Amino acid sequence: MPIFKPDVETMGRKDLQELQVERLQIVVNQAYANVDFYRRKFDEAGLSPDEIKSLEDLGKIPFTTRKDLMDNYPYGMFAVPLRDVVRLQFPLGMHGNPIVIGYTREDLKIWRELVARILVGIGITEHDIIQVAFNYGLFMGAIRFSQSAELIGAAVVPSSIASADIQIRILQDFRSTVLASTPSFALHLMETIQRKGLDPKTLSLKTGLFGAEPWPESVRQALEENLRIQAYDIYGVMELIEPGVSGECPARKGLHIFEDHFLPEIIDPQTGRVLSEGQEGELVLTTLTTSAYPLLRYRTSDVTALHSEPCACGRTLTRMDRVLRRTDRMISVRGINVFPEKITEVLTGIPGAGPGYALNARTKYGMNDQLTVQVETATEILGGREAQKAAFLETLQLAFRRALGLRVEVELKQG
Ligand code: ZN
Repeated sequence: MPIFKPDVETMGRKDLQELQVERLQIVVNQAYANVDFYRRKFDEAGLSPDEIKSLEDLGKIPFTTRKDLMDNYPYGMFAVPLRDVVRLQFPLGMHGNPIVIGYTREDLKIWRELVARILVGIGITEHDIIQVAFNYGLFMGAIRFSQSAELIGAAVVPSSIASADIQIRILQDFRSTVLASTPSFALHLMETIQRKGLDPKTLSLKTGLFGAEPWPESVRQALEENLRIQAYDIYGVMELIEPGVSGECPARKGLHIFEDHFLPEIIDPQTGRVLSEGQEGELVLTTLTTSAYPLLRYRTSDVTALHSEPCACGRTLTRMDRVLRRTDRMISVRGINVFPEKITEVLTGIPGAGPGYALNARTKYGMNDQLTVQVETATEILGGREAQKAAFLETLQLAFRRALGLRVEVELKQG
């Protein structure tokens, strides 16, 4: 199987670590010099950038959290002047507590290459037609497929949020060979194909690239059997790049992390202690080449474990297990991230609602498919006229849809 950048992807571990230390020192110095937040953190910890001399010294650097990113909104985390930034990204699911990420031209070039590595690594070539059914408006990775595909000469169909019927028409007429989407949308397509009585063998589809929400092996199995494809997992971090941090290879024994650009660690989420290889904990990432938005020891909230033994594909890059759990209370519903804090915020704005509530997710193939919010409601509304109750319910539904970008079911319950 071809490798896009064999010089780095199959590099000896020792050489790779040397490269990482070199890059780590540069990024630490740049962050210290240009970002007040990091300078303050280092000074408070009594740490000088010169003390970071080896990978073992990484542990001296304080963690960075999502709260830090929100507290420094909008441009407080930027390490370059705005004139050098060519893209500003606003990750999905953060509308109430915004984060804005900046990218320089060089950052975008690297990102384009990272996704190209994933594509090439699973055998996608200039003969392929990639149908990208991610939401181009909301999911920042969608456009990356277009640019990375261009880089390797494959064709892209940005079918975005077209309905399942139109997507199937495109699959048939354009003879798309690769589908990139959330796994929940792929399941929806699969079911529509089954309902129409279409034989998947008549399609040209052979590969699926799925991500942006956790999907268990049972989903992989269902998609592979019913769509007759090989399904691969891709991983990214919405506060950084998504996708492009890691991706599966044909061996499918974990996702190779692009360690020439990101330094991974696993920590105990409670104590912050660094765990050893193979132990499950929270993934912490340090960017090694990002210019505009360097993140030092960023706590991703994603739970995984690292493995560095050699892989059958020939890559020497560390692999991470597929992410199926989080350390925070964020849940994914049909590819949309829901933070419980957001629900509290909505309820605070509606007299008679909350503060108590309960969340119930209906699952399909082990993935969240429909979310029900049971809202504690004031007695005078619950015992009031039906019309008043209906209006209250509608207000809640609309508020949730606006705040979460997701249609949820609402039930009223005694407060
Ligand atoms: Zn591999």
